[in-house]
Amino acid sequence: MRTITLINGDGIGPEISKSVTDIIAAAGLDINWDIQTAGSDVIESEGVPLPDRVLKSVRANKVALKAPVTTPIGKGFRSVNVQLRKELDLYANLRPCKNLPGVKTRFENVDLVVVRENTEDLYAGVEEQVDDNTAHSIKIITRSASERICRFAFDYAVKNNRHEVCAVTKANIMKLSDGLFLQAFRAVAGEYPQITTREILVDNLCMQLVQDPTRFDVLVLPNLYGDIVSDLTAGLIGGLGVAQGANIGKDCAVFEPVHGSAPDIKGLNKANPTALLLSAVEMLKYIDEVSVAEKIEKALFKTLSDGHKTVDIGGNLSTTEFTEKIIENL
Ligand code: ATP
Repeated sequence: MRTITLINGDGIGPEISKSVTDIIAAAGLDINWDIQTAGSDVIESEGVPLPDRVLKSVRANKVALKAPVTTPIGKGFRSVNVQLRKELDLYANLRPCKNLPGVKTRFENVDLVVVRENTEDLYAGVEEQVDDNTAHSIKIITRSASERICRFAFDYAVKNNRHEVCAVTKANIMKLSDGLFLQAFRAVAGEYPQITTREILVDNLCMQLVQDPTRFDVLVLPNLYGDIVSDLTAGLIGGLGVAQGANIGKDCAVFEPVHGSAPDIKGLNKANPTALLLSAVEMLKYIDEVSVAEKIEKALFKTLSDGHKTVDIGGNLSTTEFTEKIIENL
């Protein structure tokens, strides 16, 4: 039996984790879930939000499914999500964004992929308080990390029959840092003559995405722009409740939804498990459990097409009722 790390998170994390593990079990796949807790709840008992045992578990199992862990705003510990990506060198954050059957949105035929650099930029956590009235945050962009993420985006495009990769920067203002990202993009693009390239400024991209997202295919972005743009693209297909994601490195991969821990609906049995479920479907494909992955995807699509939905996407089902419908459809 395959062992996979499950970080069941906090906020709505445990509720949606239970939904997803129940669905996978009902689909007939036995997985030995190595459950690892992280975040504010473990600080009291273990002193840190991301204990070594979590990293050890993911390194040993190579694959993890991760529900959201709360990141406190302002003071408090460093984001567990960011730390995990950095410690395991999960350099590519892959966020496919495609319309789902039965989820009506402003646009049809949205089918784009956000490839977000995951290890540097303003997320490096290099900040200093200069005086009471001034704080600095350092934006770090390196050629090696930029080339690596651009290569990932082009390889993804080739493997998945995509036609265009578009680099997203603000290189007209941050001429050195975003300029370096763009240089790296151009250098790597030369190795993939079969893929069309495009360059766009991030503000223009946002405007064009809300006007007509079908203009875009694969987007590659430095960390912060990737974070913001992927919430925007989640909105194009029905919101955070349905937006899946994966963090991929050379040695391991952690599959997690785009959304956070949604503390406002914690414990209310209202959370939509679709984003975590679709992330799990990608994880199953990644470990070559393609038929189970497709079976789950089909059951989910049928459930949504039949109009059975959670509140965030216009339905009236609770998390558990929606989960039961998917299991009935398996
Ligand atoms: P983070 O900074 O940790 O990513 P965030 O500020 O982006 O968090 P989220 O926790 O993702 O915030 O929540 C944003 C909004 O989306 C909240 O109103 C939340 O209830 C809603 N939301 C997020 N995920 C889901 C979900 N799975 N089902 C239903 N609503 C959700």
